[in-house]
Amino acid sequence: MAVRQQRSGVQIKTPDEITIMREAGRIVARAHQAMREAVRPGVSTAALDKIAETVIRDHGGIPSFLGYPKQGAPDYPGTINASINHELVHGLPSPKRILKEGDIISLDVGCTYQGFVGDGAFTMGVGEIPPAVQRLLDVTEESLYVGIRASVLPNETRDVSEAIQAYVARHGYGIVREYTGHGVGRDMHEEPQVPNWWPRSRQRGWVSYPLQPGMTYAIEPMVTAGRSDTRELSDKWTVVTRDGSLCAHFEHTIAITEGEPIILTAV
Ligand code: MG
Repeated sequence: MAVRQQRSGVQIKTPDEITIMREAGRIVARAHQAMREAVRPGVSTAALDKIAETVIRDHGGIPSFLGYPKQGAPDYPGTINASINHELVHGLPSPKRILKEGDIISLDVGCTYQGFVGDGAFTMGVGEIPPAVQRLLDVTEESLYVGIRASVLPNETRDVSEAIQAYVARHGYGIVREYTGHGVGRDMHEEPQVPNWWPRSRQRGWVSYPLQPGMTYAIEPMVTAGRSDTRELSDKWTVVTRDGSLCAHFEHTIAITEGEPIILTAV
């Protein structure tokens, strides 16, 4: 899940807390695996939601998105965000949304385990997709890893943002500006914000945080084949590209260390 604004201060996690977050992230990765195996033409996004919820609860977790509050909107009704084609994020799972051959689907899941959250997302094709669309997915996924590789001392969050931006721009795609990565811990959305771009000149409200061991945050580039402007549908959740272009979303929650970051949302 992505965030528009920061909610609380940067919380540095202890090694024990990171061990718990690694478990939360492992459950997210297992839910991803189970959904990846289930994605095919004819499957509804409600069925994928059920699969993810079952994996999470079977491992002693709680779906973090379920009941998530948002001002002016009903509490989030599902375990996953299932966003198809030009839907970018926060698509509501539904028995009426049936995957078709050639669609792309972005699946985002959060799991709370022993009070700590893991948050992760990926986009995949349904059946066969054209090479040009696969390239959008590949560039978006690689931009996530570019951001992870930039998440080392003595960098700041701004370095992570600029690395993602430079990589995506080099491939000619749009970078969504309204939604960003974010700190993750006891809350799904903590400081620091980790945008996927950075303004060239100083702007009010933009804070670059020096990375510190024990910082945990989600990096989640959202990349569009066309223009990067988005709008929200009348359901108050689903975010789509304004021009209807395809878009992709990849996300991992990571922990900063003295060395390489730890990818928490991995099996
Ligand atoms: Mg997120």
